[in-house]
Formats: sequence, C-alpha cells, structure tokens
Amino acid sequence: MGYNAYIFSPFCGLTLSCGPMGGMPVEKKQFAVIGLGRFGKSVGQTLCNMGYDVLGVDRNGERVQEMVEVLTHAVEADATEENVLRSLGIRNFDVVVVAIGKDLQASILVTLLLKELGVGYVLAKAQDPLHGKVLHKVGADRVIYPERDMGIRVARHLVAANIVDYIDLAPNYSIVEITAPKEFVGKNLRQLELRSRYRVNVLALKRGKKIHISPGAQDFLERGDILVVMGENDDIRRLEQQ
Ligand code: ATP
Repeated sequence: MGYNAYIFSPFCGLTLSCGPMGGMPVEKKQFAVIGLGRFGKSVGQTLCNMGYDVLGVDRNGERVQEMVEVLTHAVEADATEENVLRSLGIRNFDVVVVAIGKDLQASILVTLLLKELGVGYVLAKAQDPLHGKVLHKVGADRVIYPERDMGIRVARHLVAANIVDYIDLAPNYSIVEITAPKEFVGKNLRQLELRSRYRVNVLALKRGKKIHISPGAQDFLERGDILVVMGENDDIRRLEQQ
C-alpha cells in the first residue's frame, strides 16, 4: 500500500524533499502527528508555528488537504499499516503523537507499531482510563486525556479567577501561574514572605512579554504581574484565595 504526500508549507518557510523530512537541521526535533482531527491539528499547527518540522498523517484525504498549507509535510495514509509507517521513515522522528481517539483499535495498533518500529517517544491521546491503560501497556511513553484535562483546567479557572495556567508535577505538587493579587502590588518578595506564609517558591515573574527568572527578595510587584510559583496544592490553593 502506498500513500499520498503533499508539499507544502509557506508558513514553515521550508523547501522540502519528499520522504522523511529531508534536509532538516540535525539538532531540531522532528515531530509527527497521526490523526488530524481537532486535537491533532492543533498540536501540529502549534509546533509548526513554533518553528518545528511536523509531518501530519491521516487516512482522510480532506483532513490532509486542510493541513497542506499549515504543516511541513502532510500525508494521506492508513497508519495501521506497518509498511506505510516504515516507508514514511517514522522511526527517525523524535516524537510521534497518536491523536486518534474514537477508533480505539487503530489508536492501540498504531501506538504498538510505532514502539515496535523504534520510535523514541510516543505520546497518545486516550478517550478514557481503560483506553489509557491499554496504551501504556503497548508502550506509549505518555498518555494524555485532553477532554478530562481541559475540564479540570476550566473548573480551576472558574473557582480561582487569578490562575493563568498550571502544570501538575506530581499528585500533590504543581507549578502555577497566578496574577499578583491587589494586596501584593507595590511590595517586594521579602515583604510578601511567600515562602514562610504559604510554603511556595517563586520561580519567575512575568511582566508583559518579559520574564524574570529566579527573582530576588528586592523585586517589587506591579499591577498585572504574573507570579510563577511551585508548591503543594493545598498551599497554592491558600495563595489563590488571597
Ligand atoms: P478530535 O476529537 O481530535 O477532533 P475526532 O473525534 O474527529 O478527533 P478521531 O476518531 O479521534 O476523530 O480521529 C482523529 C483523526 O484520526 C481523524 O481525522 C481520522 O481520520 C484519523 N484516523 C483514524 N484512524 C486512522 C488511521 N488508521 N490512520 C490514519 N489516520 C487515522
């Protein structure tokens, strides 16, 4: 079985040869996204906008056509066919995202084949915990649950409006971006005593487009500043409620 390849991307500004990303700078990570539904499209487009080379694969020709102008390389193919994956040179990609959700069989089979073919890092999207468990069992390096995670994010924003973003580090620890509460404005980090009062560490301060890594005790907060803090979830929650 073959595949249809399309060449591409004015946005990535690359001149490409057919096949597995010919002529790319060696140090740049190579990404492939299998399944160009809403999730796969969004991952691929964002990586491409960040300057990475992205191969998109989908068995649906219309979905591939939609992404021809966006991704570095877009291919219409059935990723459950091992010879197709081989001929795309998939094992040369540093990261492959399996963005197939509804077709459980395809999602599991593709993940298994990618690991068998030697792909270093496979991130797969799961519909539910059972699907996720199977993906782990067949070798996925990371399994994500986009709908569940977005639901958690939205709920957290609803109860703590000053939270900009957060990353779960471990079950009880997070890194959170939080807009400086009114009471913090005009004070420096020494006066705020966040470490002793809330048991959190300030990793960075964001002001507009600038980011100040490892801010010191003398740094004053201005209105609109964003604090990047790390700590236990209970302590972060107390800070959020400021
Ligand atoms: P999303 O929620 O991301 O929009 P979706 O719900 O539209 O996804 P999914 O079943 O998760 O649909 O599939 C995502 C994409 O994966 C679809 O565009 C589908 O054509 C593609 N796909 C499914 N199976 C394969 C396969 N074996 N090979 C290549 N692409 C596939």
